Amino acid sequence: MSIKVAINGFGTIGKRVADAVDAQDDMEVVGVTKTGPSFGCDLAVKKGFPLYCTFDDEDRIARFAEQGYECHGGLSALLAIADVVVDCSPGKLGAENLAKYKQADIKYMFQGGEKHALTGLSYTSSANHAENLNAQGTRVVSCNTTGLSRTLVPLYEHCGSLKVECTMVRRAADPGDSKKGPINAIKPVLKVPSHHGPDVITVKPEIEINSLAVAVPTTIMHLHTIIADLPDGHGLSTESILEMWSNTPRVIIMHGEDNRITTTAEVMEMARDIGRKWGDLHEIFVWEDGVNLIGNRLYYFQAIHQESDVIPENVDCIRALMGTEPDWRASVAKTDAAISAYYNC
Ligand code: NAD
Repeated sequence: MSIKVAINGFGTIGKRVADAVDAQDDMEVVGVTKTGPSFGCDLAVKKGFPLYCTFDDEDRIARFAEQGYECHGGLSALLAIADVVVDCSPGKLGAENLAKYKQADIKYMFQGGEKHALTGLSYTSSANHAENLNAQGTRVVSCNTTGLSRTLVPLYEHCGSLKVECTMVRRAADPGDSKKGPINAIKPVLKVPSHHGPDVITVKPEIEINSLAVAVPTTIMHLHTIIADLPDGHGLSTESILEMWSNTPRVIIMHGEDNRITTTAEVMEMARDIGRKWGDLHEIFVWEDGVNLIGNRLYYFQAIHQESDVIPENVDCIRALMGTEPDWRASVAKTDAAISAYYNC
């Protein structure tokens, strides 16, 4: 039986989650919401995703038809035909939307713009899929926390303990966003530590981690600089850590100098060559020649495509909430194979 998925908010994350769900054979998009008629509605129409209004009031619903779009009703009508709703609204609307999901008695997933306290449960595929099995609702953590989790969880699982200090060099805005900055400055996040590192603890509480963050004038990727202290007797080398990450799903390791891929610009050009829509890179990119284990201290850099690393995690999370795939590795393999086939990449 196909899982019926509603997408509430069809922006940067919502339109990508909709495509990734559409690629799977065990779930389907039963509708997506827009707040009103806009160019984003054309994509929903083109993909054949039924269009609903974010709100239930008749005036707002009527505006879609005035602009030539067929609107199937308000959010309540969509929630009534779905098994699970993926909330992709802008951050901080969670509490208001959660009340609607509870009233509709539907399973729900939020994104990283909401706090862990909203759901009391968070998710990444590799860290805590099992903990999320059959839950009523959860939160897929942010792009940065997802990226940290991808490389740190396998390290933790090998070592049994891990202390991490990291700096998030954050993109100022998404490419389609004209409202945020800075455009000619480096902006330190003065809340110290930043929320990114500690957010890993919501999915893997055993990892000791703190972070700083700075926003820089770029739109294409975040970059992390990471220092991890491994316990005595870890038995690892730089080479065996690279080998471990090579066998970790959704992590790409490439030699920067040998491949002439020394900045995030080339990483994203390589991503466009892969051929996924919007030039997305679901994987975390680690520079092989930027990894060095000196004694117990590991240094490395990784780059995060902020608009897309969480997308396949949302698909795995749907399976976790619905209890249809208890094995995270099996879900990841299924999700990624279906996405590759969908885009022929
Ligand atoms: P976005 O602004 O691109 O899209 C949000 C969409 O929701 C828009 O279409 C907006 O019109 C719609 N919307 C507005 N009010 C709404 C409401 N009350 N209910 C439902 N929808 C509403 O935002 P985004 O970048 O897609 O972010 C969505 C969530 O994903 C946020 O929690 C964000 O923090 C998180 N996230 C974003 C990124 C990123 O890089 N963009 C990465 C990871 C996680």
